Amino acid sequence: MNKIDKIQALNKLEAKMAKDKKLPLLEFNLVFGEGNPDADVLFIGEAPGKTEDELKRPFVGRAGKLLNKMIESIGWQRSDVYITNIVKRRPPENRDPSPKEIESYKPYLKEQIEIINPKIIAPVGRFAMNYFLPLAKISHNQGKLFLINGYFIYPIFHPAAAMRATKMMTEFKKSFKNLPNTIKKNKSKK
Ligand code: URA
Repeated sequence: MNKIDKIQALNKLEAKMAKDKKLPLLEFNLVFGEGNPDADVLFIGEAPGKTEDELKRPFVGRAGKLLNKMIESIGWQRSDVYITNIVKRRPPENRDPSPKEIESYKPYLKEQIEIINPKIIAPVGRFAMNYFLPLAKISHNQGKLFLINGYFIYPIFHPAAAMRATKMMTEFKKSFKNLPNTIKKNKSKK
């Protein structure tokens, strides 16, 4: 699919989601995702927070600022990558998304991934990681590359978690630093 087709397919998918009244958390705004539909890297977080719900954009609060900083630290721009979440509406009080909510939003995420067809998917935090790798432990498996159903999966810590502990921050930065080389070494996908 070329870039124009991808943009059209993503717009269509977003419109379909907006009309789906069976989805949970309908009292909140739809935060579909944004960025370059031709991105090498697709970052997938867990769910929008308060600021994301207000602005209808993913990762624009405190965690998002750190994510942006890390993207820029490896010489990229936020607009080079694509950013979304597993659950595309805000769970109230910043609670974790429930298994039912994850399950309900799953078909849309699957389609979104197929349209973008990135070289690497970077699940951000344990919820997103466990979507692809149900048994993995974030502290053990972040910064490692997995091949699942034809997609390279490179889990990283959630920026909010990295902000809570120096050790995690060090690992988080290291995983980002290794990202460009990890992509170069695994060109076989595209
Ligand atoms: N945390 C997430 O997982 N996603 C966002 O969009 C913001 C914060």
